[in-house]
Amino acid sequence: MSASIEIREGYSPQNPETLAAYLSGIDAVRAVLGGEPPQWTIAEVGDGNLNLVFIVKGPAGGVAVKQALPYVRLVGESWPLPLSRAHYEHMALSEQARLTGKLVPHIHHYDERQALIVMELLEPHIIMRRGMIDAVEYPRFADDISSFMARTLYFTSDLALTADRKKAMIAAFAGNTALCKITEDLIFTDPYRVAELNRWTSPELDTYAARWREDGELKIAVSRLKLKFLSSAEAMLHGDLHTGSIMLTPEETRVIDPEFAFMGPMGFDVGAIVANFLLNYLAQDGHVESPGARDGYRDWVLETLERIWTAFREKFLALWRENPTGDAYPISLFAEAEGAARLEMERQAYMDRLWADTVGFAAAKMIRRILGLAHNIDLEWIKDRELRATCEARALTLARDMMVNTAAYGSIATVMAAARQVRRDIAHY
Ligand code: ADP
Ligand code: MG
Repeated sequence: MSASIEIREGYSPQNPETLAAYLSGIDAVRAVLGGEPPQWTIAEVGDGNLNLVFIVKGPAGGVAVKQALPYVRLVGESWPLPLSRAHYEHMALSEQARLTGKLVPHIHHYDERQALIVMELLEPHIIMRRGMIDAVEYPRFADDISSFMARTLYFTSDLALTADRKKAMIAAFAGNTALCKITEDLIFTDPYRVAELNRWTSPELDTYAARWREDGELKIAVSRLKLKFLSSAEAMLHGDLHTGSIMLTPEETRVIDPEFAFMGPMGFDVGAIVANFLLNYLAQDGHVESPGARDGYRDWVLETLERIWTAFREKFLALWRENPTGDAYPISLFAEAEGAARLEMERQAYMDRLWADTVGFAAAKMIRRILGLAHNIDLEWIKDRELRATCEARALTLARDMMVNTAAYGSIATVMAAARQVRRDIAHY
């Protein structure tokens, strides 16, 4: 946070007044909106943390406009952040569109100098986190997100790419260092030390926060995960795949906001989904309207999580069997029957290792949402502070065990059982 604000020639942040004129100069956008600029309505959404987002509607249709600022929107100029994040977001979005088709919003226009993306307006889609707080079931989600993760991770890995193409992707994303640094600090470091940006439900969880900072075993475990995040360029990650980066309806899923994209360890993306489902599961007690009212939904959350991992594993393995086009595990080495059988065993072992990474990264993501800077509304919207602290204490306890005793969580079933158990074990923080 010591860097100065970036100045880029010709760049200027939009406001609702300037944006109509800007958009009227882009044929593709005029065609979507229809009519003339005076007929368009423009509103800033304002729930983004880092960037400007505008919703623009015309007589024929709408678009969403996302523009990076040279600083963090929520904090202001005291926290500079490079405009290049729009470049990485656009590159990742394009790659995800190529690999998953309609699981990301369509891009109508990209302006590198203005750090601005004009994309499909997602309507009536809502942010998934909000839907899950309101106990909305999404029957398509497990199938969609497992496809999204399997296809984006598999096809950008050494299992699918030749080494030269893989290294070209590493080079293409290598400059997204400022966004990676946010993750490195806020997820893997700050929650485990005294840091100005940390916050937690205080004073209720003060002793938890202190214990987490003094836990040597945990600090080794999270540092091991940080090393993997820093050094394992396995595949193109979304980089921020929580339920606030998903907009959906019960019929349609769209993944948004890949500005944290870079070539990293696959378990980080999968772990983000796992973490956010577990946090929502454990937050449900704070949103119960009447006794038992959320029991069915709580089950839906865990069962959907199980379906996500199971489907992801199956889809990833199927892609590997059908597209062994990468330089890793060359098929010429495994042509005969015994070799093919060994390769299949190795594929299973690969998925087991990916699962172990997933458990660790999920734990790190849960802890940072309770002891670090950025919290999530699943827990923050619980009005009764004592109840909230109890939900958070359960999540911290589960996450610590997942991170330190990862080997004991060999399957999604063990994670589900532990999530159910921690609700019984901790009656009060
Ligand atoms: P930030 O990176 O600044 O957090 P996001 O990409 O998460 O920005 O977008 C912020 C908010 O803007 C989202 O939570 C959502 O409400 C809205 N939004 C973003 N993209 C779209 C879209 N394509 N259609 C409709 N709303 C969108
Ligand atoms: Mg963002």
